[in-house]
Amino acid sequence: MTGHVSLVGAGPGDPELLTVRAVRRLAEAEVVVHDALVSDAVLALAPPTAELIDVGKRPGQGVAQDLINVLLVRLAREGRRVVRLKGGDPFVVGRGGEEAAALAEQGIACEVVPGISSAIGAPAAAGIPVTYRGLSAHFTVVTGHRQRGESPVQWQSLAQAGGTIVVLMGVAQRADIAAQLVEGGLPDTTPVAAVHRATTGEQTVVRCPLRELATTPIESPAVIVIGAVASLDIRSIAAAVDA
Ligand code: SAH
Repeated sequence: MTGHVSLVGAGPGDPELLTVRAVRRLAEAEVVVHDALVSDAVLALAPPTAELIDVGKRPGQGVAQDLINVLLVRLAREGRRVVRLKGGDPFVVGRGGEEAAALAEQGIACEVVPGISSAIGAPAAAGIPVTYRGLSAHFTVVTGHRQRGESPVQWQSLAQAGGTIVVLMGVAQRADIAAQLVEGGLPDTTPVAAVHRATTGEQTVVRCPLRELATTPIESPAVIVIGAVASLDIRSIAAAVDA
């Protein structure tokens, strides 16, 4: 018996944004191995009998990736129904690919259940369409946090590419990111929106021009949207039409 793991995307926070399959896998779970970002409302969909294991990586703590891989393999070998629950989409900036590969190497079947990435869900929750005719025809999702040894992000090339830039894990590095984008030719008047704890009861949205990104207080976790669309708020347009 080799066991089975479902690598499930938990979406940005609101449980209503889970896929039908994610809800089903959670309801059947015997053990849920989850990240820090997964909301309590989503975890509440696991049966009360399910064991919940928090392997969340908060700064300075959390469980190392190797140990998470070992844990998943062990739980699967015990023959339990394992849900590995990751914020947003498991394969967008979150090392889900490495976990799937580690399981495959050990001969353990791994199913991937995609989720709504915060890269899409957070802008949407702030009324920002990541593409919009005449403003932006494409968007780039990029992580602001690189581990040592990983290749650096080519921010100056991104500045040249145009379109919308969606930064995950970028709060701590935002001064550096803004400086490199401006150096790359992006006007310092470019609109920016930061969406904190998107789709949860604690959601906040901060907007500023790129030149003020470094000094504007933003709390993690947040998605930072950079580009002309960041000045839009479709929610207020809808409200104006209703009025
Ligand atoms: N796989 C996840 C991303 C994991 S990296 C996804 O697809 O969304 C963690 C980063 O995601 C955070 O630093 C933050 O930038 C972003 N994030 C995840 N959930 C968020 C939320 N509810 N609100 C704002 N940002 C969020």
